[in-house]
Amino acid sequence: MEIFVLGTSGMMPLVNRHLTSVLVRRDGKMYLFDCGEGTQIALRKADLGWKGIDSIFISHMHSDHLTGLPGLLMLSSQVDRTEPLHIYGPALLEEYIESSRRILDMFINYEIIFHAIEDKDVLFEDDEIAIRTFPLIHTKPCYAFSVTEKPRPGIFSVDKAVAFGVPKGPMWGRLQRGEDVMLENGSVVRSADVVGERRKGLKFTYVTDTMYFDEIANFAFESDILMIEGMFAHDLQDTAHQKKHMTAVEAAAVAKDSMSRDAYLMHYSPRYADSELRFLLKDARSVYDRMHLAKDGMSMIAKHED
Ligand SMILES: [Zn+2]
Ligand SMILES: [Zn+2]
Repeated sequence: MEIFVLGTSGMMPLVNRHLTSVLVRRDGKMYLFDCGEGTQIALRKADLGWKGIDSIFISHMHSDHLTGLPGLLMLSSQVDRTEPLHIYGPALLEEYIESSRRILDMFINYEIIFHAIEDKDVLFEDDEIAIRTFPLIHTKPCYAFSVTEKPRPGIFSVDKAVAFGVPKGPMWGRLQRGEDVMLENGSVVRSADVVGERRKGLKFTYVTDTMYFDEIANFAFESDILMIEGMFAHDLQDTAHQKKHMTAVEAAAVAKDSMSRDAYLMHYSPRYADSELRFLLKDARSVYDRMHLAKDGMSMIAKHED
C-alpha cells in the first residue's frame, strides 16, 4: 500500500503547501481523500495521473476540501477514461457536483457514481479491502476514512507439512487456502495443523477537521499509517477547540491510544511557516514518539510486519 501526500495545508493553499489531500494506491487502484483547490496540480507533481483514480472521498463541505473537484472532473475531456468514477461524501456534495456540471456545461464522458455517506459504516468492500467511515465533530458534518486490507492467511509451515507426510504439490496450496486434505493413506491433515493464525492486513486511516474526542482512536485502531490533522500548536488549544480542530498534542493522543504504527500530522494552519512546523512535531512527540510531519510531495509505503 502506497500513500502519497498531495497537500498538507488547512484553510488555504500556500506557495509551497497545497490543500490537504492524500492518495492511496493499492493493487493498481487509486483512492483520493479530499480535493481542495489545486489538488490537480499536486497530482501532476506526484506524476500520478488522474485517469487511474477509482474513488474520491470528500470529508466535508468546507471549500478547502472540495473546490478542486470540478477542475479534476473537467480533466476527463482531456483523457480517455471509460471506467466509472465513484465519489463518496456528504449528501450535499451530489448537489455541488451536479450544479457544477450544469452551470459550467462540463463535458464528462464517463459515469460518475455518487454515494452519500449519511449513516453508513462500510462504504466499500470486496474480497481484499474494506473502506470505512466514521463521523467526526466539526463545524459541519465531517467524516474520517480508513482503508483496511482483509486478514491474510497464516504462515504455512513447510516443516509441519513434511512431518505430516503431505507431498509437495497442489495439496500444499489447498492447505494454505484453508482447506483440509486427505492423504493417499486415508489420513486427514487439517489446514490449521500446518498454517498459523491469520495475519492482520494493512490499515490506512485519514482523519481531518475535527475536535478531539476519545472514539477517534477506536476508529483508527492499529493503523499502519494514520494521517491526522494537527492544525495548531499546544499553546493555541483554546482556538483549536473553538474552531473544532485538533492540536498536535491531541492528534498524538489519538495516534498513541489507537496504537498506530506511524502517524503523520497534516492540515497545518497557514499561520505556521514551514520552518515553524517543527514546533508542532515537538508537541506531538512529547506524547508519542511515532509522530511525523507530513510534507507535500512525500510518499510512504506501508508494509506488512510479518
Ligand atoms: Zn479544512
Ligand atoms: Zn473544515
